[in-house]
Amino acid sequence: MFSRIWECLSYDIGIDLGTVNTLVLVKGKGIVIREPTVVALHKKTRQILSIGSEAKRMLGRTPAAIEAVRPLRDGVISDFDTTEAMLRFFIDKVHQMPGKGKWFLPKIPRPRIVVGIPSGVTEVERRAVQDACLSAGAREAYLIEEPMAAAIGAKLPIEEPDGTMVVDIGGGTTEIAVISLGGMVINRSLRIAGDELDQDIVNYMRTRYGLLIGEKTAEEIKIELGSAHPDFGKEKDKKEVLATIVRGRDLATGLPKSIKITSDEIREALSPTIYEMIQAIQDALQETPPELLTDIVERGIYLAGGGALIRGLDKRIVEDTKIPVWVANDPLTTVVRGCGEVLDNLNLLSKVKVTGGLR
Ligand code: ADP
Ligand code: MG
Repeated sequence: MFSRIWECLSYDIGIDLGTVNTLVLVKGKGIVIREPTVVALHKKTRQILSIGSEAKRMLGRTPAAIEAVRPLRDGVISDFDTTEAMLRFFIDKVHQMPGKGKWFLPKIPRPRIVVGIPSGVTEVERRAVQDACLSAGAREAYLIEEPMAAAIGAKLPIEEPDGTMVVDIGGGTTEIAVISLGGMVINRSLRIAGDELDQDIVNYMRTRYGLLIGEKTAEEIKIELGSAHPDFGKEKDKKEVLATIVRGRDLATGLPKSIKITSDEIREALSPTIYEMIQAIQDALQETPPELLTDIVERGIYLAGGGALIRGLDKRIVEDTKIPVWVANDPLTTVVRGCGEVLDNLNLLSKVKVTGGLR
């Protein structure tokens, strides 16, 4: 009995292990960590030098001996040791938060952890993430696939016998899922998402203007000007054009150069990748059993992840699929909020398919 009460005091943790961003939520406190999924390592010794935003600042700026890596870049764990170290770092950071485990109090029980992972992660990698959580101090560790966590975070009725479609567009992967009765009926993980759009902008600037820019600059341009539909403005059906100055290196002279570009040009640059994403949504719809498809047509497609913020993407999907589209509230935090929701409602844990359990 006492141990049950004590367990209630435990600060359970939800983690969104994204390809670009890692978010950590503590039950009862909300989101406490929001950091890029980047680790800076010493090249030879593999010693970890920094993690998160500090490491991200090093991307593209490291001296020869240091390497900044994104261990989940493509939605698979390319470097397990680094991923484990990163998870441990974030879990420890929460452990050390003020008010936890004061010396005069008995030790607060170890946390229960729910981690949202890209659905393309293999069984071996899942096991590895789970082990990493356990060895970092979790009492129990559960893994939940990101589209499922996104659906829960968006408060969709996943346990009902109705079809719900969720598209989570992150940095490395676009995850498309049709959920019914707590399970994923259709699940596609496309290795094309935000990073690919950044690369499209790098390529466009190089071929169209002979201007060399880095991925970080490309991402900034995407966020400032990127769109998927010409009528992306707030006013209905009003075409809007934005413009900005881009600075980079002139490929011909090797010297700095500035160029003015418009949202029309960026939309053109992004268009083939956007088309591929929509094609994947259409493929998933085609595979969806007819009863569930009817539900989706009625209720719409839900977008989550940072990619959901691309201007006019919702409009474009509506035009191409003829199905209503909704962007989740605060799409960058939908997955971690879904993990939190699972911690709050342990019934969900038994209903949704999760891997993991007791230590
Ligand atoms: P992941 O789950 O893979 O870590 P996120 O859901 O955190 O990814 O989304 C990160 C991606 O979203 C990045 O590619 C980022 O550039 C993109 N992104 C973030 N904000 C915006 C925005 N306002 N417009 C377009 N893309 C955005
Ligand atoms: Mg994500």
